[in-house]
Order: sequence, then C-alpha cells, then structure tokens
Amino acid sequence: MGRSIYTKLVVIILVLIVALMAVVGAFLMGGVRNFYINEFYSRMQEVFASADIAADLRAAAEGEGAAELMANILRANMGRLGVDGSTRNYFILDGETGSCLTGSDMDVGSHLTVTRNILTALSGEEGYAVSAGEDLMDVALPVRGAGGSYIIYIIDNKDLVTELNGELLQIILRAIGIGLLISVGLSLLLAKTMVTPIQHLTRAAEKVAAGDFSEKVDNSAQDEIGVLTRTFNDMADQLEGNIESLKNSEQMRREFVANVSHELRTPVTSIRSYAETLEAAGDSLDPETEQHFLEVIVSESDRMTKIVQDLLLLSRFDAGSLQFDFASFSFEKSIRDVFDAQLLEAQQHHHDFRLSLDGSLPEIRGDRSRIEQVLMNMISNAIKYTHDGGRIRVTAGVKGGEVYCTVRDNGVGIPKEDLNRIFERFYRVDKTRSRATGGTGLGLSIAHEIVERHDGRFTLKSQPGKGTSITVWLPIGGPAHG
Ligand code: ADP
Repeated sequence: MGRSIYTKLVVIILVLIVALMAVVGAFLMGGVRNFYINEFYSRMQEVFASADIAADLRAAAEGEGAAELMANILRANMGRLGVDGSTRNYFILDGETGSCLTGSDMDVGSHLTVTRNILTALSGEEGYAVSAGEDLMDVALPVRGAGGSYIIYIIDNKDLVTELNGELLQIILRAIGIGLLISVGLSLLLAKTMVTPIQHLTRAAEKVAAGDFSEKVDNSAQDEIGVLTRTFNDMADQLEGNIESLKNSEQMRREFVANVSHELRTPVTSIRSYAETLEAAGDSLDPETEQHFLEVIVSESDRMTKIVQDLLLLSRFDAGSLQFDFASFSFEKSIRDVFDAQLLEAQQHHHDFRLSLDGSLPEIRGDRSRIEQVLMNMISNAIKYTHDGGRIRVTAGVKGGEVYCTVRDNGVGIPKEDLNRIFERFYRVDKTRSRATGGTGLGLSIAHEIVERHDGRFTLKSQPGKGTSITVWLPIGGPAHG
C-alpha cells in the first residue's frame, strides 16, 4: 500500500512539473516568435515610411539603371533594415513579372516563391501582410517611375527565431530534468512525513486485528495523520480494555455457574442420602432418628428454595425486569420494625442487642420493603457471625443529604483481603459457618444491588476476631433517576 501511494505521489509531482514546464515553454516560445515577427514588420514600416529613403527610392525609379540604384540605397540601409545576408535579404523585383533583378543574395533571389505580398505589390499595393504560420516573412513594396516599375522586397526566413526557440526548448528540457530530481527528493520527503507513519499505523492495525495490543504507534505531529494515529491508539486501548473486561465477566460467569451448580447439588445430595437411608431402614429406625432425618430433609429443601429464590431475584436485577416502588416512608420506623423482628433471634443467641438513634430521622424516598430487606440482612449477618453472648449495636442518623444505619458487632470479623469481596455472589469468608447458619452467600450481593438502585452505598470496617461495622448510606431524596 505504501509503495503505491509513494508511486502515485512521484507520478503526480512529475506530471505537474512537466505540465507546468510545457505551458511555460509554449507561452515563452510563442511570445518570442510573436515579438520577432512584430519587430520585423514595425521596423520595415518605420524604415520605408521615413521621408529620406522613400524619396530616394522614388527618385531612383525615375531614371536609367533604377534597379541598381535602388539596390544601392537598400545596401546603404542594411543596418536599419536588419539585413544580414543570411536570414534576412533584400531584392529588387521586376514590377511587372515579379522576377528577381538584383539583391543581397542572388542564390536565394533566383528561387523566390511568389508570396501573397508579392502579388499585392504586383497589383500596385503595399504588401505588409503577416504570414505567421509560414516559415518565412516578407514585405513587398511597389515603386513606379519613369524608369519602370519595381518591387522592393525584404524576406526573412525566420532561422533566427527558430534557433532561439530551439535554445529555449533545450533550457526547458533541462528545467524538466532538474524538476524531476526535485520531484524525487520531494517524494522522499513526503514519504517520510506521510507514507511512513501510515505504514506504521497499518502494521499496528494488523497486529490489533490479530489480537496483539502491545504495539503503540508514536506520532506527536499535529497534522491529520498525527490525529489519526492518536485516535487509533485510543481505540486500541479502549478495545483492549473491553476485551479484558469481557474476559473478566466471562470468567465471573463461569465461576457463577459453577457456584450455582455446587450450591444446589449439596442439599440435593444430603436430601437424597437421608431419604435413601430412611427407605432402606424401613421400620427398623427408632422414631427419634427418623424424626431427625425428616427435619434435615425439610431444612435442606428450605435451603434450596431460598437459594433458588435469591438467584431468581438476582437474575431479575440483571435483566432489569424488577420494578421498584419508590415512595416516601419513615426510615426510622423501618429500622425499628426490622430491629423488633430480629430481637427474638438475637435473644436466642444471648446477644446484647440494642438500638440507638442520633436524633429523629426524616422520611426518605425509596422502596420500603427492599430497604428493610437490606437492613434485615445486615442485622442477621451480625447475629450469625458473632459468637453467642456478643454485643450488637444498631445506630442511625442523618449526615448531609443522606441517612445512614450502622450495624456494629464484636463478632468474628472479616480479613482485610476479603473486605472487597463479600458483596460478590456466593462469596463467603467461612463457608462452613455460613452454611451452618443458613447463609447462601447471596444476601449481601442482593443488598448491594438494592442500595445501588437507590444511588446509595455501603461502608465497611472490620477486624478479624474483633468485630465488624457495616453502614448503609441512602440519599434522602431517593435515586436521581428513579
Ligand atoms: P451469607 O448468606 O453467607 O451470610 P452474605 O452475602 O450475607 O452471605 O455475606 C457474605 C459473607 O460476608 C458472609 O459469608 C460472611 O463471611 C461475611 N460477613 C457478612 N457480614 C459479616 C459480619 N457482620 N461479620 C463477619 N462476616 C460477615
């Protein structure tokens, strides 16, 4: 591709130079020719109109040997007429027949053709007609007297102007030659500033097409190619980022599917094994063990139902098909309701469970039942991940345009490296503990989705072995687009 642009450039510049030179040459040569012709005729008119020469010629025609006399007058004025004996000659012709009587070069004189001007002179008129197309120019003037009738004839074969134009042609050809060299030089320069960056860009584009984003093209020029190069680099970066995030989300999708299968298989396996044992044992099991087996089967079924419900909810979030009912409601009342609902559970684990509000809380705009679901999840996590007899504090207040609710416990805590991940689907720091307490690992991811839809956020502080403090922040006015 580069080569073809390069060749095109050279050809264009070449054609330009040749065309320019041809036009200049044609004008120049035409100009020189016209100048020469005009100069000839105006000089002839000037000389023959001058009183002395005209009078002398008329006087010569009156007597004997008129032709010779006239020739002498012309010879005396050779300089003024520009006669040199080679390109320009003078002749005296017979006024009746047009044949040459005498002149500056008899070789030429004996082969004279009868031109339009000679015919004009033979008819008694002055022949000054310009014959531009022919390779000769002439002037024929009739002179009549008692000594007979004659024609003064000056002829120029234009050799001088032809020679001059030949010389000009040489100069123009030489200029074209130099132009050629210049065009090659210019093309090299153009190639360096245009073709080379395009070649680099092409190579980089080929690599990008093959999935290699490592090559960046360097071009800080302010011209169009510079802009194109930078745009290309930006595009490659963007593409690289997109592909990276696609890979990441593909990876996350695989992990998610693996997690779902695993989470669902576990309860199915235990239900199946308990059911099989019950079936095989028949009546041989004592009623207590039988009752226990049945309870396990029911609780595992409940667990499965919960996982499936949570997954369904999450997939509705993902699909955007879940409607939120945004309305004003009392944040304070919601907190109190959730607190009361969890009181029994907390008491069963002998937790010191208290609620304290920093002043009165305003009404906020949001989906009340979903917000309560978030609060419920925060509190139930605190209860689950705190050893019995722990301390759990629920506090709430207003700050800026937001309300907040903090749930602080002195439970098992979360290691630093897991802090960012607990909102991920199925992520659990301690699988056994979560399972034992009926967790699915989906609670916080659902809470996160809900809070995000409210333009809210979570903040989290935790120390393993010391406890956790999780806070949800919600804008009082609700989400900007909700
Ligand atoms: P789960 O159903 O397992 O409780 P969540 O999504 O609610 O799932 O929480 C994810 C994980 O975050 C939990 O498994 C637990 O490891 C950790 N976690 C959440 N809250 C607390 C807390 N208050 N103290 C310690 N760990 C917590």
